Amino acid sequence: MRVIVTGGAGFIGSALVRHLVLDKGYEVLNVDALTYAGNLASLSAVEGRNTYSFLHANICDRAAMDRAIAEFRPDRVMHLAAESHVDRSITGAADFVQTNVIGTFTLLEAARGYWNGLDTAAKEAFRFLHVSTDEVYGSLGEDGLFAETTPYDPSSPYSASKASSDHLAKAWQRTYGLPVVVSNCSNNYGPFHFPEKLIPLTILNALSGKPLPVYGKGENVRDWLYVEDHARALDLIVAEGRPGETYNVGGRNERRNIDVVRRICAVLDQLVPVAAPREGLIEFVTDRPGHDARYAIDATRLETELGWRAQEDFDSGIEKTVRWYLDNAWWWRPLRDRYDGERLGLVEAKT
Ligand code: NAD
Repeated sequence: MRVIVTGGAGFIGSALVRHLVLDKGYEVLNVDALTYAGNLASLSAVEGRNTYSFLHANICDRAAMDRAIAEFRPDRVMHLAAESHVDRSITGAADFVQTNVIGTFTLLEAARGYWNGLDTAAKEAFRFLHVSTDEVYGSLGEDGLFAETTPYDPSSPYSASKASSDHLAKAWQRTYGLPVVVSNCSNNYGPFHFPEKLIPLTILNALSGKPLPVYGKGENVRDWLYVEDHARALDLIVAEGRPGETYNVGGRNERRNIDVVRRICAVLDQLVPVAAPREGLIEFVTDRPGHDARYAIDATRLETELGWRAQEDFDSGIEKTVRWYLDNAWWWRPLRDRYDGERLGLVEAKT
């Protein structure tokens, strides 16, 4: 099996590449522009294997995408490259429109050109998986879950750009017959997560005794999924999902942000005891504009049609994640030293 993964140097992409190369024995070409979020250090486990290769390229570059696809001749393209951080999309939406919308369009066109030239059997077997987020559905009230049929209602420039790319992906299936499958997943957490996101930021700030910023009153609810469960789901969806369909991915692990932060503090207090409980470091900061109240995924289709189940429950997943950050300062310290927290209005000082 030959798979192109875009965004394979990112958080979820690198988990997917590790899964495909190490667990599945596939040949993988990772196409990544190495933005601030891309980090080849996350791929040290596959580096040097003859089934793994890396192409430093931008998905908006049509000639580079045509060449990569023509030369590698993939059975599958799994598209994860994106600008992914909501806060950054609020302060600078242009990169989000460029990569998430124009980049997806460019990649769909390159894939279509290649697919058109395949023989009938290869055409039928080919799959393009477009990886997206549950944020396209907007915000839930206290009840209900996002189903695949939930109307799109994105709130942030990030989610609006992802929603646009989902529509493009679906249109390429309906209009041109390109075998596209779309997945929409809830919030991921786990190893190799860039330290600007809530969970790694909280772990690392708590570890160094710095304030723990929490938006608003911390009441916002997210449905957390361990990243390796997501990687397994993506491989299953691209292999067995029906072209033209959407598959929601989620771990049925709803938590308020404040409870996530408290849980991390409790785990850290146990593993690395300090005099005062780290919960005392929590600081409530002005809420993010357009902050969605609650996300929660109904993953019934994925569970019943494809037999997927999340393996990691939240408490064990958080403990594994905290332990990983404790053991892998070589990975996060250089990022943290460069991290521009002030620009995002968070309390982490520049170092
Ligand atoms: P990430 O920000 O960690 O990684 C994105 C990767 O894409 C980086 O390696 C970056 O260098 C690369 N990239 C960015 N622009 C590029 C371009 N123009 N050309 C080529 N490469 C480019 O993101 P992530 O959290 O791993 O998310 C991966 C995908 O999954 C995204 O499409 C995101 O929307 C989606 N998603 C993320 C989550 C989550 O919780 N993180 C949840 C659901 C869906």
